[in-house]
Amino acid sequence: MSDPGITGVVGTVAAICTTGAFIPQIFKIRKQGGEDLSYSMLAVYLVGVLLWLVYGLMFHAPAVIWANVVAFILVATSLVLKLSWKEFAGTGRSGKRRPRVAVDMDEVIADSLTRHLSLYNRATGENVTPELIREKGLEASIPPKHRAVFERLPHEGGFFDDLSVIVNSQHALQLLSSKYDVFITSAAMEVPHSFDAKFRWLQKHFPFIPTSNIVFCGDKEIIDADYLIDDRSRHFARFRGTGILFAAPHNARELAHLRANNWDEVLAILLKRQSAAAIQQSAKSNINTEAQELASN
Ligand SMILES: [Mg+2]
Repeated sequence: MSDPGITGVVGTVAAICTTGAFIPQIFKIRKQGGEDLSYSMLAVYLVGVLLWLVYGLMFHAPAVIWANVVAFILVATSLVLKLSWKEFAGTGRSGKRRPRVAVDMDEVIADSLTRHLSLYNRATGENVTPELIREKGLEASIPPKHRAVFERLPHEGGFFDDLSVIVNSQHALQLLSSKYDVFITSAAMEVPHSFDAKFRWLQKHFPFIPTSNIVFCGDKEIIDADYLIDDRSRHFARFRGTGILFAAPHNARELAHLRANNWDEVLAILLKRQSAAAIQQSAKSNINTEAQELASN
């Protein structure tokens, strides 16, 4: 271990690791504001880096000097970014928009399964029910010989006309609209001819949702919302917010981080979270006001 070559390499790699550790943190602060990063930790770290710098200068240790100069710049940058992000949030430049909820259509607000099974049973003479799908799963409920029929049905004209509304979804979205920006997000590209019917259906049953908040898309990864309520968990894979799996027969056996069996449960989750966020925000602004009052006295 006394080989100066090895010692030098170990020291250099160690300096690069401990110094560079702040680079990903800086990217995260730029993106999310660094709310979870403590000011006191940053301040103490900065003092430590400065003391190491003094130490390096006193003992003429170039590796210690350059490593701590770089570390000082990175930690100071983190501190400035965290402070400035907070200012931007206060002036509405970021982080101040209303929270957004993205809501899927089929099996979440529109009951397409009842029509799908009715048409399928009529076409094949089978008797597949939601209960059967819940019990056996969709794959096992549709025999391979009828799978093509099952998959073709949504592509036939009229499939999406006049679908029933999922129980309590209108009332729930009206309530949520007072607290959140609500967007309807349907992966309608899977059935491109459904656009017109889906749009008409929304105008009829959810007229309070502005047309600007209707998003027909392919990959739901592009949706910039805080919550996505969907019956297909695959849409949560790359979604950056929180997915709420809306219960449907085909997902009955899926384990989900957050699951709602109906719209009452969605309201319970989202309104509770909104209240908690409002209380937290109110507490923060009270602390800021008190701090300002103390400073002015
Ligand atoms: Mg769906």
